[in-house]
This record gives sequence, structure tokens and C-alpha cells, in this order.
Amino acid sequence: MLKGVNKKITILDGSFGFQLDKYVSKSLDGDPLWSARSLASEPEAVIKVHLDYIKAGCDIIETNTYQASIPGFIKYLNYTKEEGYELIKKAVSLAKTAIERARKEGIISGDTRPLIAGSVGPYGAHLHDGSEYNGYYTDKTTIEVLQNYHKPRISALIEGGVDLLAIETIPSKKEAEVIVNIIKDYPDIKAWLSFSCRTDGVSTAHGDNFKDTVTSCYKLNPDQIIAVGVNCIAPHAVEPLIKEVTDIPLIVYANSGEKYDSALGWDNNDEKLEEYIPTWLNLGVKYIGGCCRVCDNNISKIVEEVRKWEATHSE
Ligand SMILES: [Zn+2]
Repeated sequence: MLKGVNKKITILDGSFGFQLDKYVSKSLDGDPLWSARSLASEPEAVIKVHLDYIKAGCDIIETNTYQASIPGFIKYLNYTKEEGYELIKKAVSLAKTAIERARKEGIISGDTRPLIAGSVGPYGAHLHDGSEYNGYYTDKTTIEVLQNYHKPRISALIEGGVDLLAIETIPSKKEAEVIVNIIKDYPDIKAWLSFSCRTDGVSTAHGDNFKDTVTSCYKLNPDQIIAVGVNCIAPHAVEPLIKEVTDIPLIVYANSGEKYDSALGWDNNDEKLEEYIPTWLNLGVKYIGGCCRVCDNNISKIVEEVRKWEATHSE
């Protein structure tokens, strides 16, 4: 069990960008830095998003660094390498500020506090073309390029003081292995490893076999990886993927199930994510939250469902 979390099931937060839209002057959808731009432009909005999720009752909040990268900050904010590195550290301090505020406002009390997970999105996220959902860049991107992309952000997040890392929306085994190997240089940090997957029930977004991929990545570093799983997928597509994986702690944070069309926008056909929760928990999911289009209200419903399930499944 993760140090600092005493519950059987650990609850994560929801979408950062979706919640952020409530507080920023202009939506960041379509921005090449996406929600990461707000670290520089609207830090107060970032704190408010964290606070909303703390109020909703989650055990872990994630830094706003999914699409944050030093090359991205150099290109789109005219930052130096050093300033880019500092902005990633600032993302951690904004999460810490939110926790301090939650304590002052009486939302949390005593020694308890949500943990801070440093979000480590895939290389494809900074390409800003949706390629984390097909992993098309995987074969033409060298291991060295992937290492150079991931290592500085991981280093900045750890230096900033995160409690653990959220390695997420990774489309391929190749990229996952690179990151899992990088964290061996920081043996004190724990991490979860979550993939973007196809809806065929067997493959990662890039087409690797999901079960083989999560099993072999977990075995590569069982001391540091606390859970493996899937995120940013429609709720109905989760069960076939995870039911084949046994004896490894699982993490699931699905999206709302809505589909996006560049001409028509979101189709508003969301699935009731909370209704899937008992099934997932019965399959060994230990970490549960939400991804795109899942907001603080949805997390409150997830908290309710999880506590109900825990009450009837005492060890
Ligand atoms: Zn997502």
C-alpha cells in the first residue's frame, strides 16, 4: 500500500483541462500547450482546480504537467531550458498551495492530506496531434529521443517534491519501458503506469498486447510501480482489458465516454462512469479516478460508489 494512504481503494482526481475551463478567461482547448499554459498565465486557476478535487474527496491530486515539457515551453513561451524546468517545479508548488488552502479552509484536517502525483504524459502529447491515442510516432522515435523528453520533467517533478509519479496515457510498450527504466535512477519514488488503449479489449493504442505489456513493464520494476492499468478510455471498454490481468494492482481512470468530432464538438453521450465501479473493483482495481470530461461532481459520485463497495467488502 502507498505510504500516506490508508484506505483500501485510492481515489484519484478527474480531468484537469475540463475543470480548468471553469476558471480560465479563455478555453485552452486547441492550445499547443493545452492546460499546461495556465501554469504560466493563470496559476490561481490551477490552484482552484486542485481545490475542487480535494473538496470532492480524492486521495491523490495530479500536477498540471500532462502536456508540460521543456521543449514546449521553449517553443511556445519563449522560455529558456532553465525557466521551463522551473515552471514544471512550480506546478508542484501550486498543488502544495492548494493543499495548504484546503487545510486553512477546514476541508482537510489533522495530518491527512491528498498525495501529489506528478503527471507524466506521453511524448505524443507535446506533438499536439492526438498521437498519444494511436502511438504512430513510436516506431520512428528513438529510445534516446524519448529519454531526453521524459527525464528532465521527471527530475523537475521529483525535485519539486511530488509524492509519486503518474505515468499516463502511454500508447506503447516501448515508451513505457523507457520511462520505467528512467525512474530506476530515482529509487525512492513510486509511480503508477497507465496506458492509452484501443477499444478492442486487447491492445494498447499502439497495438501492443495490453496484458503482456503491463505484466512485463511491472516485472521490470516491481519495487517502484504500484499499479498498472488504463486511462482516457470509454468506461464500457475497460473491463475486457483489465479482466485478463491478475495478481498486479490495477489502476483505471476512464474518460466520460463522450466522442469528439472536430467539426461538431463533443457528442454529449456520456456513460455513467460510476455504474462501472463495482465491476472494476471486483476485478482488482485499487486506484480509481477520472480522465477527460470527468469533473469534480463525477469524482464525488465515484467516492460514494467506492465507499459503498468498501463497506460490503471488508477483509
Ligand atoms: Zn483523458
